[in-house]
Amino acid sequence: THFGFETVAEALKEQRVRGVFSSVASSYDSMNDFMSLGIHRLWKDHFVRNLNPGRNPLTSSSAADTQGWNILDIAGGTGDIAFRMLDHASHINNDAHTNVTVADINPDMLAEGKKRSLQTPYARSPRLRFVEANAEKLDMIPDNSIDLYTVAFGIRNFTHKDVALREAFRVLKPGGVFACLEFSKVENPLFNAVYQQWSFNAIPYIGQLVAGDRASYQYLVESIARFPSQEEFSGMIRDAGFLIPGKGYENLTDGIAAIHKGVKP
Ligand code: SAM
Repeated sequence: THFGFETVAEALKEQRVRGVFSSVASSYDSMNDFMSLGIHRLWKDHFVRNLNPGRNPLTSSSAADTQGWNILDIAGGTGDIAFRMLDHASHINNDAHTNVTVADINPDMLAEGKKRSLQTPYARSPRLRFVEANAEKLDMIPDNSIDLYTVAFGIRNFTHKDVALREAFRVLKPGGVFACLEFSKVENPLFNAVYQQWSFNAIPYIGQLVAGDRASYQYLVESIARFPSQEEFSGMIRDAGFLIPGKGYENLTDGIAAIHKGVKP
């Protein structure tokens, strides 16, 4: 606006998000477990299996196929998705070349991810790197360089989701895939009533009890409620220039979470 209110509000939002994730970086798994009753681990497994990262050298025909995928995991924080991607590429597709760049705006989350990577075979390997970056401005990532862009439980925190989607479009190669795993809208009204009670009453309370931090958990619940519906979000992906395969999304656990996809033409 002329008065700069928008900018101030946006700066405050970014600061808020930073604060929330700095304060939960180490208790991050328990937070996710509470938010999803532990199911987020199964959703993440499904997300990665479904994307089937990597190229199997035994079934690939062209030489380029032996180079593996360049994967960019945005808001990748603690590396949860990245480690699964590399495990899948290595063990399911016998691909030792696929690499993942984990990008996150929050240095505390990245530090937690780096620490966790020491428990994996990918620590200090060229297949895994961590970069501090805002999803809305990925200057360090060249145009048309990425085969698969993933964002799991991150995009609802972005200030300008449309700008982040356009950045995703820019960095992906033609034919490259945008894939997002995010909390979404529960479809069954009865189940939704229970879920709303759980979200708005139980989660902030548990956050207070377990982490002594009601405000961060309250923020997370509200950010889920504000996030667009499955159809609306699919429309935003289309507006950024992507082709939408099929229905555009897959509901997980009746829509508590959903996987959205777009393909760069
Ligand atoms: N992807 C991980 C997972 O599924 O376990 C982490 C998800 S965590 C709920 C959300 C992450 O988004 C945090 O690490 C936070 O720092 C990051 N984030 C928030 N806004 C961001 C932005 N504009 N650009 C990049 N990362 C951002």
